[in-house]
Amino acid sequence: MKTDSTILYLVVPCYNEEEVLNKSAQVMKNKMLRLQEAGRIAKASRILFVNDGSRDRTWRIIHELTQQDRLFAGLSFSRNYGHQSAILAGMMTAREKADAVVTIDADLQQDIEALDSFLDCYDRGCDIVYGVRNDRNTDGFFKKATAGMFYGFMHFLGSNTITNHADYRLMSKKALDALSQFHESNLFLRGLIPTLGFQSDIVYFDVKEREAGQSKYTLRKMITLAMDGITSMSVRPLQMITVLGFLVCLVSAGIFVSCIWDWAHGMVVAGWTTTVGTICLTGGVTLLSQGIIGEYIGKIYMESKGRPRYLVDCLIWHGEEETDDTH
Ligand code: UDP
Ligand code: MG
Repeated sequence: MKTDSTILYLVVPCYNEEEVLNKSAQVMKNKMLRLQEAGRIAKASRILFVNDGSRDRTWRIIHELTQQDRLFAGLSFSRNYGHQSAILAGMMTAREKADAVVTIDADLQQDIEALDSFLDCYDRGCDIVYGVRNDRNTDGFFKKATAGMFYGFMHFLGSNTITNHADYRLMSKKALDALSQFHESNLFLRGLIPTLGFQSDIVYFDVKEREAGQSKYTLRKMITLAMDGITSMSVRPLQMITVLGFLVCLVSAGIFVSCIWDWAHGMVVAGWTTTVGTICLTGGVTLLSQGIIGEYIGKIYMESKGRPRYLVDCLIWHGEEETDDTH
């Protein structure tokens, strides 16, 4: 792989990022120009912003940037589809023109200087390079605790999700072509991409505070992502229901034997608490189990519809607009 000919595309998902976008664009542009001057990336490299149905001035800012400089390109969704769909759309669009694609958040929390290390790995022959954060000091207690639990649970379920890796990664064209063959709409890229295989490596980077604006990951979006992660990567929760059902059966059998024992000894009225307790327990376990099964059935239902994962409203290359098809 020749270093100076690498066409690198940065893919930047943006949802209501008007406060931070101009600043981020300048920082990203400076970095890309420095990499070009150093001969590390080709002149045809680009920064592709994906507007994920923002309600503020985000798309207008992206539009202006694309008019000012050919380095910038923009893609706009018809509505908000979520972070995962935005980076997928960016990667699938960039794949046609790029040798390698790096996905990075719009808020500059992820250290852009890590691009050098990403490119080092790529030059050594890696097809996937995962950016992993050094610590979680910029996160609040709640996010730190829930993230720790989530990654622990994912490993327990057998998914080889990389702890503290959050979609800041480089993928070669070869890896992107492989990813394009996956058509699931229940998308959890952090779990799916490690299953692709290929030579890969990890680059550690420092996480900074958000430059401006608020986090766009609401609690609801985080829970949806976690549920998508679990259900798309593992069926072990369904197997756990079987084990749970078996255990409840064992306990029930024990209680039944004890009831017979009480009856045989004339103690028939005893056991009110046990009775109510057992009903509540089995009721709770049954409802929880149905909920888990329902979650999977819901996902099957959505997958079976085969709906497009996102609809593109507009695409701007070299300052010129194209309307685009569906994916
Ligand atoms: N984002 C998106 N669609 C959404 C929510 C977020 O494209 O529905 C983008 C957002 O603009 C940012 C990235 O995903 O570039 C990460 O979001 P954020 O920084 O708000 O998440 P946090 O760092 O707080 O986890
Ligand atoms: Mg952020």
